[in-house]
Amino acid sequence: MTPANENKPQAAAKCPVCGKPAQAEHKPFCSARCADVDLNRWLSGSYAIPAVEDDEDGREGDREA
Ligand SMILES: [Zn+2]
Repeated sequence: MTPANENKPQAAAKCPVCGKPAQAEHKPFCSARCADVDLNRWLSGSYAIPAVEDDEDGREGDREA
């Protein structure tokens, strides 16, 4: 309803990674690097399961017969 808005040259979307203006080539990121960073975050996010199975306090030697 506000045609004044459509006259804008693509409002600069910001790179979600670093906040710089996104480049059309790397939308929505500013560079391939940031796209990569984001992807890595994504992946590490789903793999962010702390594997601390080594933390068990299994003392075997203190057992009472
Ligand atoms: Zn960026």
